Amino acid sequence: MAAYTPMMQQYLKIKAEYQDAFLFFRLGDFYEMFFEDALNASQELEITLTSREGGTDERIPMCGVPYHSAQGYIERLIEKGYKVAIAEQTEDPKQAKGVVRREVIQLITPGTVMEGRSLQEKENNYLATVTQFQDGTYGFAYTDLSTGENKVTLLPAKEEEVLNEISVLGAKEVVLSAKLDEGLQRKMRERNVLAISYEEETDSVDSFSGLMKDLNQDKFRVTAARLFNYLHRTQKRSLDHLQPVTTYQVHQFMKIDYYSKHNLELTETIRSKGKKGSLLWLLDETKTAMGGRMLKQWVDRPRIDRQEIERRLALTGQFISSYFERKELQERLKEVYDLERLAGRVAFGNVNARDLKQLLRSLQQIPHLHEILSRIPGQETGELAESLDHCEEVVDLLEQAIVENPPLSVKEGNIIKDGFNAQLDQYRDASRNGKTWIAQLERDEREKTGIKSLKVGYNRVFGYYIEVTRANLQHLEEGQYERKQTLANAERFITPALKEKEALILEAEEKCGELEYELFCEIRDQVKEHIPRLQALAKTLSEIDVLQSFAEVSESRKYVKPVFSDSREIVIEEGRHPVVEKVLDSQEYVPNDCKMSGEREILLITGPNMSGKSTYMRQVALTAILAQIGCYVPASKAVLPIFDQVFTRIGAADDLVSGQSTFMVEMLEAKNAIANATQDSLILFDEIGRGTSTYDGMALAQAIIEHVHNRIGAKTLFSTHYHELTVLEEELKRLHNVHVSAIEHHGRVVFLHKIKEGPADKSYGIHVAELAGLPKELISRANEILSSLEQQPEQTEKPAGTKEKPVPVLPDGTETEAQPAPQASHQAQLSFFDEPAVPKKAELAP
Ligand code: ADP
Repeated sequence: MAAYTPMMQQYLKIKAEYQDAFLFFRLGDFYEMFFEDALNASQELEITLTSREGGTDERIPMCGVPYHSAQGYIERLIEKGYKVAIAEQTEDPKQAKGVVRREVIQLITPGTVMEGRSLQEKENNYLATVTQFQDGTYGFAYTDLSTGENKVTLLPAKEEEVLNEISVLGAKEVVLSAKLDEGLQRKMRERNVLAISYEEETDSVDSFSGLMKDLNQDKFRVTAARLFNYLHRTQKRSLDHLQPVTTYQVHQFMKIDYYSKHNLELTETIRSKGKKGSLLWLLDETKTAMGGRMLKQWVDRPRIDRQEIERRLALTGQFISSYFERKELQERLKEVYDLERLAGRVAFGNVNARDLKQLLRSLQQIPHLHEILSRIPGQETGELAESLDHCEEVVDLLEQAIVENPPLSVKEGNIIKDGFNAQLDQYRDASRNGKTWIAQLERDEREKTGIKSLKVGYNRVFGYYIEVTRANLQHLEEGQYERKQTLANAERFITPALKEKEALILEAEEKCGELEYELFCEIRDQVKEHIPRLQALAKTLSEIDVLQSFAEVSESRKYVKPVFSDSREIVIEEGRHPVVEKVLDSQEYVPNDCKMSGEREILLITGPNMSGKSTYMRQVALTAILAQIGCYVPASKAVLPIFDQVFTRIGAADDLVSGQSTFMVEMLEAKNAIANATQDSLILFDEIGRGTSTYDGMALAQAIIEHVHNRIGAKTLFSTHYHELTVLEEELKRLHNVHVSAIEHHGRVVFLHKIKEGPADKSYGIHVAELAGLPKELISRANEILSSLEQQPEQTEKPAGTKEKPVPVLPDGTETEAQPAPQASHQAQLSFFDEPAVPKKAELAP
């Protein structure tokens, strides 16, 4: 170490404290990185690697980014899950003896970014923390530093519960103790956590005690303290916008595990991982960023408390029935700025006058919003109107203080209105008077000398001067003015009186600038006092925005208000899959009923591939979720229970991240449902057992159905291509067969996507092949093989004593007549042959 130059020693000392971060070391106009950091950063950022002398024989690897364009580079590193420590010069180089002092002024991490493109407008950016207690249970807390929201909860001693919270929130970073189980840490990364950070300190620091005043248990306090200590250590700046921590309990919400959320494409699609095509995308007609974030929170966490659900539904209804008021609200909401994040930036001290102006513009909408809301009939909208805080003090302050179009910079004046501050007015008068005096001087001197082109000008170097063109110099008397500068065609002069005025003007202007900055900071601090009110207002505005969005979607897509029943029955008439319906032309979507009750707890769904089984299953789940977030549902009538949990096992969800086989994932998902479902849950099992050999899979599928039927009693939709399972209806009293079929229309196979009672014809696979026009001999050979397979004894691995119920559905004259063939786009030809629907048995043929 001693061999290095003093500056490198300083670097190494700081770096030792920030091992897990890139250290951006300020050197003049650059942030430089050295050693390993330089090697890695040059690769990650594709910047040139160089080297420099550092006192030792070997040159030190180095790379750097210009100070003024550092933001983009920092963001790129953060997005990749790295942390960046910013070391600035913290003393004036002119005053420094030896190496200029440098300190880390902020550690930027994926969970603590406050600005830039890694912060999505309509998404929260969560930093979570996990603490495991002696008894194995966990404390879990999270914050969104950009909005100031803080929450804490306790979780049972199950890793899955922790992981589930992390994925529900989409936490970017998790803070924990290095002692926490390594396996759990690894699993967190698999759930897309970008960075894991360590903080051992769990005693609460005084400066945060106010935030923890409502926490009545040690476990809560310890958990939250770890989070705050981490923030305190890394952020090194005002965190006054953080809101008091509130507690929550996971069982306040409908539980949708990681797999199910993913399978149902609630907030992103399976394929693109993007929002487009998800339920969130469908629902998002919000006009503000805050509303967008709240909508996502609601979709991530449907409710189970009927009162809150009914309140939201009532509001959705009131917004639906007031079309014109809704449109007016939308226009007003468009003018509302992101108050939550603005409040965060006010606390951090990085807002400018334009931001404050936007704050004002947002607050000026409140009286209008209030008035519009009070015109909408309904108690709930009235309550919302009343809960809007007009924040008059802030409005008054900003109206009086800030000019119409303030500049970006807060240090160059032109921010504060005349009349706001007497001292400022005086300086401004002085400067204005001086300028009037100068204008007058120009007129006087022209008259005196008779030189029409004489002018008074200003430049930074010489200040004010009198300029006379060369041709006119002869009109001046000797020594009339003092010569200052000679140009090609003109001479510039000054006079003592002019210089005197200049001094007054410049002094006044400088003072103006200083005073304006001072006043601006005062105003900012005054606004800071009102942060909690602004945050509460932001919540109400977000809620209004989400509910008007629900109303917008519900009305335009003709949704109905769901009714909740205590009898645990489902009656959905003409139900639709909300997203598929939107993507298809809604004319083409074939609505389907779903009736389930104490007598019909399990629906066993058969039918060929591509007929619409999984769409049907998903639409039931999505309908329940929509209802429980407070939105109307895509159906003509919907009676629903309140579900405590939704489980899914739906095909094609290969868990590539954790490298598990499809079948293993299938079994894990099934296990998750079986271990946790109650009779108030909804289970979707799509083609379970498909991932293994036929008998194996069928045996598992049957055992799972029996288990759900006999032990759990959850409402279950079970689709299968094992036709053999349809006989279970005889044995299991609460299981019913339904099917989706295909028909032939003008020589083409057409999927009607219509759910009907009873099992599908057991030879529908062969029938579909026939419809598709495979040679007659081949079809009759297939039928032969089928019947010979059915004779084989090992084939009858079905419940003893049950006999098959012949329900020939296809071909069935009445059905083809009753169901007119839909539009051409339904006619998915041959695509179902990619994967044989049923006749896997044929593969076993000798
Ligand atoms: P399965 O699960 O039976 O293989 P899917 O549910 O995946 O079939 O549906 C296949 C395709 O059929 C879907 O991509 C969708 O576009 C279309 N589809 C499904 N249900 C309907 C419906 N009720 N109305 C119109 N099209 C539908």
